[in-house]
Amino acid sequence: MSAQNSQTQAWQALSRDHHLAPFSDVKQLAEKGPRIITQAKGVYLWDSEGNKILDAMAGLWCVAVGYGRDELAEVASRQMKQLPYYNLFFQTAHPPALELAKAIADLAPAGMNHVFFTGSGSEGNDTVLRMVRHYWALKGQPDKKVIIGRINGYHGSTVAGAALGGMSGMHQQGGVIPDIVHIPQPYWFGEGGDMTEADFGVWAAEQLERKILEVGENNVAAFIAEPIQGAGGVIIAPDTYWPKVKQILAKYDILFVADEVICGFGRTGQWFGTDYYDLEPDLMTIAKGLTSGYIPMGGVIVRDEVARVVSEGGDFNHGFTYSGHPVAAAVALENLRILRDEQIITQVQDKTAPYLQQRLRELADHPLVGEVRGLGMLGAIELVKDKASRTRYPGKGVGMICRQHCFDNGLIMRAVGDTMIIAPPLVISLAEIDELVAKTRKCLDLTYEAVR
Ligand SMILES: *Cc1c(COP(=O)(O)O)cnc(C)c1O
Repeated sequence: MSAQNSQTQAWQALSRDHHLAPFSDVKQLAEKGPRIITQAKGVYLWDSEGNKILDAMAGLWCVAVGYGRDELAEVASRQMKQLPYYNLFFQTAHPPALELAKAIADLAPAGMNHVFFTGSGSEGNDTVLRMVRHYWALKGQPDKKVIIGRINGYHGSTVAGAALGGMSGMHQQGGVIPDIVHIPQPYWFGEGGDMTEADFGVWAAEQLERKILEVGENNVAAFIAEPIQGAGGVIIAPDTYWPKVKQILAKYDILFVADEVICGFGRTGQWFGTDYYDLEPDLMTIAKGLTSGYIPMGGVIVRDEVARVVSEGGDFNHGFTYSGHPVAAAVALENLRILRDEQIITQVQDKTAPYLQQRLRELADHPLVGEVRGLGMLGAIELVKDKASRTRYPGKGVGMICRQHCFDNGLIMRAVGDTMIIAPPLVISLAEIDELVAKTRKCLDLTYEAVR
């Protein structure tokens, strides 16, 4: 056994004996042992066996500026030496959090000038749930507390995150809160049936109005949605969907919450997904790309009118020990500086995203591929048995087979059922996109061989 090998096995034993891994079948993981990731640079990871892996998921959608940016480590180190921690409770504050709030307000859509900081996206959505209900209570409409989410939406893993999200597996495991309801998702490939994409988009949007009328406008606090559903399978609504949703939102007195945890900070080629779709949210949840994942941080960007009502309502009894953590805020500020000064988002918009999308679509001719879709630095490949009828291979777990081939061939893609998804670092180069597409084709071939 090589030294490398025995070291890997020692770590795998620690995993088996002591670690309860998130979103994992822990028993199955114990048999196989996790892949141990030890280093990273740019868009690449290295594991403990020395394998180099192209990370087409940017970690968990978060490493926007790529791995190994020393500037982020340096500002963290400097901030830790100067003021490693202080809180924002009880009438104190510190420069990094305040300067970050201003920097975010400058990037956010007009009229959204306040930020509530959290430690994660889930905590951001917990904050959303409490803030919107508190807002309506302050306005003398305490009955407006129902929040409408979408089936298969993802809003995090705390109780509020799980309940706002529309994943039944999470609801079943202690993830339900009263007065949260869900409408169908705009997933044409999976659920469009015989409708055209355009008709299905309108239909899916109309479900929002139906639900508002069913619950009663006077009982609805907010609608929450991701501009593009990420964890649900990179679900990009038909072009007809968001314009129709916008019309419906304008008709009723309810708040709109855009969960920008994935789309925010450049993934669509705009600063926010709502910029891309020209939506006008009242609250936006942020995390992930805010710090490029170098350190945990999330938050909620709040429209001026909502901020005014909440501010005038006295104490909002809500906050986290690590809200606006100074080290996280310093890292976020530097991350935003890098995104801005290096014009990374402009480059995504003008150059790398169009190239990625064009190259990905070349995979549509593969016998296993039913659809390739994508937008900005997001992509999805639907694996099917029959293209025309969009029929899946029954009971084979094709997505998992493909994911394993990817792992074994130096590529990280994620499988959501039989949908392969990617969200590479925003800094991925044209040559690295070529490598990503070539590896993907190879893994599709291997998967096809295994299941045909
Ligand atoms: C990841 C994610 C969250 C949860 O963020 P955490 O930092 O994992 O708590 C919420 N919403 C969306 C859209 C996400 O992708």
